Amino acid sequence: MRLIGTILALALAVVSATADAKVSVSTRYRSPKNPDRRVRASTTLIVLHTTEAPAKGSLRRLSERGEAHYCVAEDGMVYQIVDRHRVAFHAGCSMWNGREDVDDFSIGIECVGYHDKAMPLVQLLSIRALVEELQAYYSIPDENVVTHSMVAYANPNKWQKKKCRGRKRCGMLFAMPSVRRILGLASRHSCDPDVRARRLVSADDYLAKVLYGNTDTMRSTYDGVKLPASVTGGGTGKVAASAAGGPRKTRPSRSFSYVPQSIPQLRAQGFESIGTVTRSNLPIRIAGDAWNAPDTYYTIRAKVLPGNILDPQHVEEGMNVWRRKGAR
Ligand SMILES: [Zn+2]
Repeated sequence: MRLIGTILALALAVVSATADAKVSVSTRYRSPKNPDRRVRASTTLIVLHTTEAPAKGSLRRLSERGEAHYCVAEDGMVYQIVDRHRVAFHAGCSMWNGREDVDDFSIGIECVGYHDKAMPLVQLLSIRALVEELQAYYSIPDENVVTHSMVAYANPNKWQKKKCRGRKRCGMLFAMPSVRRILGLASRHSCDPDVRARRLVSADDYLAKVLYGNTDTMRSTYDGVKLPASVTGGGTGKVAASAAGGPRKTRPSRSFSYVPQSIPQLRAQGFESIGTVTRSNLPIRIAGDAWNAPDTYYTIRAKVLPGNILDPQHVEEGMNVWRRKGAR
């Protein structure tokens, strides 16, 4: 078993994985809190968070407490946690443009990672596709895709006599222009509306420089990164950073599908088994270039694995390969 894994790893390493615009959504961590949550009356913001912790514990905690609508893992997998039309408790003490309790009018997306660390491109492209889908659904402009650190505030405390911004740096990197370009967001707010109106004071100068100034620590990582044409709809992926009046980007249509978790679900979604892995019948032989596509599935001992998550080291003889009927 070990040997075939090694052979396959070598055989598959020559096939370069291409970024796919398609996003897979798993309901594995759907929150048990869903039935208790009221339906949101309006949705005008998308709030991006960073988990500041690894995926596994984060997903469990978010699900148990119903603290986000979605969580995007490092491998690009999107987990749906709270139904998008219900309230998720993600923003805590928060205000935007004079309105408190941002949970009441926003979608919360947790991204596995840290507020000041670069994320894998595959993860950012998944966030991009998810955000585009939600922006289109709720008619949310690019600048209203904000970070948790932009909306969180603290009540007066022993260090700050006034209500202040700067309670958190959560999601800070998503305000940086180099990251917003990868996310396809052409604009951002040029100042904090609540600080400007003196409803809040700014308590974190560095954070304010990242959110509204020129501090962009991700430039060396992401500037020059060329996005696949499948993501940009054939364009160059370069997006003007001007706040208003910038060119509208094309919005390629995205297909969202729920990841089948069992063989009956695969069948119900129109998949069929197209071959069984053996030493001489490798995945690439069975499924061709689609061997590692998110819509190719591998099943063994009742486990279902999408091709883009499959670790070539764990390919085993006896795995069944599934594709949608007519996809070949
Ligand atoms: Zn947060």
